[in-house]
Amino acid sequence: MLKDKIGMIFGVANKRSIAWACAAACAEHGAKQAFTYQGERLKENVEKLAGELPDSLVVPCDVTNQADVDAAFDAVKERYGRLDYLIHSIAFAPKEALEGEFVTTTREAFRTALEISAFSLTQVSLAAAPLMTEGGSIVTMTYYGAEKVVSNYNVMGVAKAALEASTRYLAADLGKQNIRVNAISAGPINTLSARGVKNMGTLLGYVGEKSPLKRNVTASEVGNTALFLVSDLASGITGENIHVDCGYNIMGI
Ligand code: NAD
Repeated sequence: MLKDKIGMIFGVANKRSIAWACAAACAEHGAKQAFTYQGERLKENVEKLAGELPDSLVVPCDVTNQADVDAAFDAVKERYGRLDYLIHSIAFAPKEALEGEFVTTTREAFRTALEISAFSLTQVSLAAAPLMTEGGSIVTMTYYGAEKVVSNYNVMGVAKAALEASTRYLAADLGKQNIRVNAISAGPINTLSARGVKNMGTLLGYVGEKSPLKRNVTASEVGNTALFLVSDLASGITGENIHVDCGYNIMGI
């Protein structure tokens, strides 16, 4: 399905990362992929994982550093000459902002969360577009906390709301270049980032019980949806937010 396609994956920290599940699904269907890692501490993990896949590239990229972003896209251009899809699977908020009441969010925590978790989608889309010479697909990861209040998710919910709106604006801008931009709203999954949200275990239990499918979603189910969105099967879909959450979001009382 993705033979001869080139992807760029932001957000692998370890094998539990949603980004890794997306990359694995796409690699299985023939894609070659570049991986970015945030900081030296994650380099070894990402190199080891990417090494399991054919013809992959690994480059450093902290999105708060524009020079890193520019260098990462230069490296992709040099290695592959173009890009077909990009998976944006990164987010961050200071730990203290992910517990207690939203009303106490500091200016600094707000700025950090919105910059890394929302603005970065626009930042990487602008850099990716010139490389998507044959059209392209950009996919980001969001969460239900953008739509409804989820205890402790706080400023990350606000950042995800900005991310979802950015998805629509980017889709409108980039559509004329045949670049599609979509979001996946994943149900809770036990990853490194998720463990930063207080009482994540309770949330997983609650959602697993209340969702129509009576379980939590898996990272590989999210990965398969990303595979669909970056493939030609989704050629008519842009600006959309697809819930991959075992149906949790449809439930009222
Ligand atoms: P993860 O910890 O494996 O991935 C988060 C990634 O963000 C890491 O690779 C980290 O290095 C990267 N990152 C953080 N700050 C960065 C920066 N300044 N520059 C570059 N990269 C940076 O956790 P995950 O759960 O796989 O998260 C991936 C995405 O999925 C996030 O956007 C998250 O909000 C979203 N999501 C997660 C869940 C869940 O329950 N795990 C649910 C819905 C959406």
